[in-house]
Amino acid sequence: MLGRLSNCRSGCRAIASQPRRAFSSPRSMRGGKCAATGTNLIALDFDGVVCDSCGESSLSAFKAAALLWPEIFLTPEAEARKDELVEKMRAVRPVVETGYENIVQIRCLYEGVSVDEMLASWERMLPARMSQWGLNRAEMVQLFGSVRDDWIAADLNGWLAPNRIYEGVAEPVRTAMGRHEVYIVTTKQAHYTEILMRDMASVPFPPDRIFSQTVSGRPKGEVLAALAARHPDAVAKIFVEDKLSTLEKVARDPSLSDWQLYLVDWGYNTLQERARAAANPAISILDKRQFEQLMAAEELAGLTAP
Ligand SMILES: [Mg+2]
Repeated sequence: MLGRLSNCRSGCRAIASQPRRAFSSPRSMRGGKCAATGTNLIALDFDGVVCDSCGESSLSAFKAAALLWPEIFLTPEAEARKDELVEKMRAVRPVVETGYENIVQIRCLYEGVSVDEMLASWERMLPARMSQWGLNRAEMVQLFGSVRDDWIAADLNGWLAPNRIYEGVAEPVRTAMGRHEVYIVTTKQAHYTEILMRDMASVPFPPDRIFSQTVSGRPKGEVLAALAARHPDAVAKIFVEDKLSTLEKVARDPSLSDWQLYLVDWGYNTLQERARAAANPAISILDKRQFEQLMAAEELAGLTAP
């Protein structure tokens, strides 16, 4: 479905600068390109959009938990339950905001909290358990990072192996980087993102274009605002996420109303969340084919009206 067209800087009418709308397929958008296409500003989430890191983050959480609570996790009982716990960690991944939360999750699961209970109440469960177990966010972030650093230093291939770049994503990102202003906005620490882009996706990504909120814990909306200020001439501002609550926060911020918000239909979201996104006029759902079209973008960025 084709949304309203609006004016681009070169005087043609460009679909990319239109207000938020449902994704339009190129078939319905063809109508000729304007002479000067504009540059889009594209912000991509990383985990759940580009990279499936759930296996790695769950194993890192187990290692961190073994350092933090050796009496629980450095035991044959915990080792025997490792596969079961890692499997449950995948099921609860949609509620994770930042990596260190995996450590708290794995202990909760070990102690018998159910997947459904965690999915339903993680926002309240996380601070309650942090307080109960005397945990500090900054220390947990540091611990999770140091476990990964040690693992990478000891065995880079072993650390990379449980990560997976989603099929059909790396090439469209590479294409977009050649045409547009592309950034990664992630809660993962930037240097892990850089390693995974280089070694797993074979797409070297400039470190100064990776924005991480791991340490600051600041919302992604602040990064989007900063990126928009850096690129005032962007024809379209595109934010691609797999976490619905992040998109909903951005959608509620009137100062970010010119961002087009996309929820991918892969990654760490649930069927219920995708149904909620479908009902939200500010958010569009993308499949892989549409993602490829969005990243290719010249058909979005510079179309004349029919
Ligand atoms: Mg994500």
